[in-house]
Amino acid sequence: MIYLDANASEPLRAEAREAVLAALELPGNPASVHGAGRRARDLLEGARERIAGAVGVEPAGVVLCSGGTEANVLALRALSAPSDGPRRRVLAGSTEHAAVLEAGPAPRVLPVDRDGVIRLDALERALADDGEEPALVCLMLANNETGVIHPVAEAAAICRRHGALLHVDAVQAVGRIPVTLDALGADSLALSGHKIGGPKGAGALALRTVRRLDPLLAGGGQERGRRGGTPALPAVAGLAAALDAAGAALADRETLAGWRDRIEAAARECGAVVAGEGAPRLDNTSCLALPGRRADGQLIALDLAGFCVSAGAACSSGKVARSHVLDAMGLEELAEQSVRVSLPWSATQAGVEAFIAAYRRMAARPPRVA
Ligand code: PLP
Repeated sequence: MIYLDANASEPLRAEAREAVLAALELPGNPASVHGAGRRARDLLEGARERIAGAVGVEPAGVVLCSGGTEANVLALRALSAPSDGPRRRVLAGSTEHAAVLEAGPAPRVLPVDRDGVIRLDALERALADDGEEPALVCLMLANNETGVIHPVAEAAAICRRHGALLHVDAVQAVGRIPVTLDALGADSLALSGHKIGGPKGAGALALRTVRRLDPLLAGGGQERGRRGGTPALPAVAGLAAALDAAGAALADRETLAGWRDRIEAAARECGAVVAGEGAPRLDNTSCLALPGRRADGQLIALDLAGFCVSAGAACSSGKVARSHVLDAMGLEELAEQSVRVSLPWSATQAGVEAFIAAYRRMAARPPRVA
C-alpha cells in the first residue's frame, strides 16, 4: 500500500512516536503538586514552549486542545461572542474547512477566484459595509483540497485598517511552509498534530496576545481557564516533536515539489485539469480533475491498485461528497471528478513513479457507464 493522503493525516514520525511512548510512562497529572505531577508539568510546559516558539508567540498564548477542529471552533466562538466584550460579526472564505463554516452561526462567506484564492477586493468591501459591529475574519492559510495558499498577510493588512480581528486556520500549512503569527499579521492561528506527523488528538490555538477566552469546555481551569480537562500529555509531546522534525525538514521542500510537478505533468497528459494551478500552492498537494470520470470510480480504481488518495474533503465523513471548495472555484462538474494526491513526509520517488503508472492505467480505461 502506498499512502498519498497526507492532508487527511500524515504517518507518525519516528520522533513523535518516541515522544509519545516516553510520555505514556509518566503517571502524573500535570496539575498535581507532587513530584510525578511536576515531571508531567515540565514535559507539558516544555512542549508548549516549543509549539509557541515554532509559530512565534509567547508560551502563555498557546491553548493546547484536541486538534484543528477544536482550535478553530474555540477561536471563532470565543473571539466573536466573548462574555466580557463586544460581539463581532464573522466573515470567512468560501473554501474554508467545515470546522470553520459550521463553528457557530453561519458566517458571511467571501468569494474566491477561479484558482481558489480569496478575493481581497470582496474582503475590503465586506469590511467597509454597513457594520456597526466590528468583525472577526477567518481565513485558511493553505487549502486542504487544493493546497492553494491564500495571501493572508495582505488580508491581515486590510483587517487592521478596518479594526477587524483575523483568525487563521493554518492546519495544512504549519510544518509545510514557514508560518509565524507575526509574518502573517494574524491575531490567532490553529494547528493540528496529525497533519504534521504527530499523533491524532492534539492541536493548539496560538494567540498573538495572551488573552482570556470563554472556554468550550468549562471546569478544571486548565490552560488558564481557556480549555478545561486534563491535557493529553502523550499526544501533546508527540505534537511538539513532530513540529520540530517538520521544521527541520522544511529545508528540503524542493524534492516534494518536484514529485508533485511530475504527478501533475503526467495527469495533464491524461487529460486532467489541476485545480488552483495558477495560484501559489503547497509543495505536497495536487487536486486532479479528470473530465467525465466520477471521483468515487477513480478512488476505487486507485485503491484497488494499492494507492490511498482521497476525493473532496473525505477526511471527515468517509463519504465521497461533492467538493464545496471546487464548487466555490466555479469548476462545475469537475467538482465531482477530482481526486486529491497529498504527499506525506514519508513519500518516496519509487512510490511517486508507481502512482504515476497507476494513474495512467486508470485514466486509459474507458469510464464505467452507470
Ligand atoms: N482545518 C483544515 C484546513 C483541515 O484540513 C482540517 C482537517 O482536515 C481541520 C481544520 C481539522 O483538523 P483536525 O482533524 O485536527 O480536527
